[in-house]
Amino acid sequence: QPFPIYNFSAGPAVLPESVLRTAQNEMLDYNGTGISVMTMSHRGDAFASILHHAEQDLRQLMNIPNNYKVLFLQGGASAQFSQIVLNFAHGFECVDAVVSGNWSEIAYKQMAKLTQTHIHLAADGKRDFQYKNVPPVASWDIHRDAAFVHFVINETVHGLQYRDVPQWSADLPPLICDMSSEILSRQVNVADFGVIYAGAQKNIGPAGATVVIIREDLLERCSSHVPDVWNYQSHVQRQGMYNTPATYPIYMAGLVFRWLQAQGGVESIQKINELKAKKLYDAIDQSGGFYQNDIYPDARSQMNVVFRTQDIELDEKFIQESVLNGLQLLRGYKAVGGMRASIYNAMPMAGVDALIEFMQDFQKRYG
Ligand code: PMP
Repeated sequence: QPFPIYNFSAGPAVLPESVLRTAQNEMLDYNGTGISVMTMSHRGDAFASILHHAEQDLRQLMNIPNNYKVLFLQGGASAQFSQIVLNFAHGFECVDAVVSGNWSEIAYKQMAKLTQTHIHLAADGKRDFQYKNVPPVASWDIHRDAAFVHFVINETVHGLQYRDVPQWSADLPPLICDMSSEILSRQVNVADFGVIYAGAQKNIGPAGATVVIIREDLLERCSSHVPDVWNYQSHVQRQGMYNTPATYPIYMAGLVFRWLQAQGGVESIQKINELKAKKLYDAIDQSGGFYQNDIYPDARSQMNVVFRTQDIELDEKFIQESVLNGLQLLRGYKAVGGMRASIYNAMPMAGVDALIEFMQDFQKRYG
């Protein structure tokens, strides 16, 4: 094609080209083993080393303290909505759930299906802000004796983000965070969280692995009545090998972690991410109302930038023409409509520049 392709998918999402090329080169013969990572035993030395290094590199990138365990599970972030309840709610009267957008709303509803424990709506961003702002942490109605507090730090569909990462005090219930669509995009203090989990398919790798980072003391709460495959403790006791892990996605995640280290780590990519988001929001705000994003400025996501024109048919035209210009998968989530540009770590600045150039050109023609 005459121009580069930029992939703005919300997930599965763009991966660094160099990572894909390494995977291509190693596809048939991984590191002299003569076989593919896809076809090797998860119990063999080669895969054990892949898993070990993926974990160590993630620990280094996120500065994960030693009293946290790291697992690569299956089932996606959606499985975690239930798994956290299954493992941690037993014996507690309530769980506090913050609802700030599409995914935390789903989590809130799904959590209630598995347990007698009351799932308490600790904040309602739909009622209070129509998902245009996130409920401030200070306004969360937290029960001191809740099993945990659950929230989604970046709402992929609505383009909302807690820009100030909550700082948590030890006398509050453990904070459990769905970090799927922003993990590794900016620095966070892992010690503020009881559990962090994230589906891989945005900033980590292809779909199929789910990173779960758990503070050790919480493992003692995992009831032995929970079947082993759902039991965090069982996975930890078997070094993440209770059953066959998603070997190939973990291998790919390991390549992405090394790529990120080569970019200078999270601190460096954060600066680039801030710049990418600023450029794009500026382009929207300076379009004289042709493009709109009506999220409160302090809650605008730096990963998922939602915008629309004044007219649904024009949005459709934008999406169709953008594809012809090499800008792929800009269609917004069906319930929200409009456009959404997901600009994860692997989206280069040039992709954002190309999108802005197209937006300006489109406005000239239709504005
Ligand atoms: N949480 C968030 C924030 C998400 O963006 C997504 C998927 N886009 C999910 C949960 C669900 O993830 P999965 O499809 O891996 O279950």
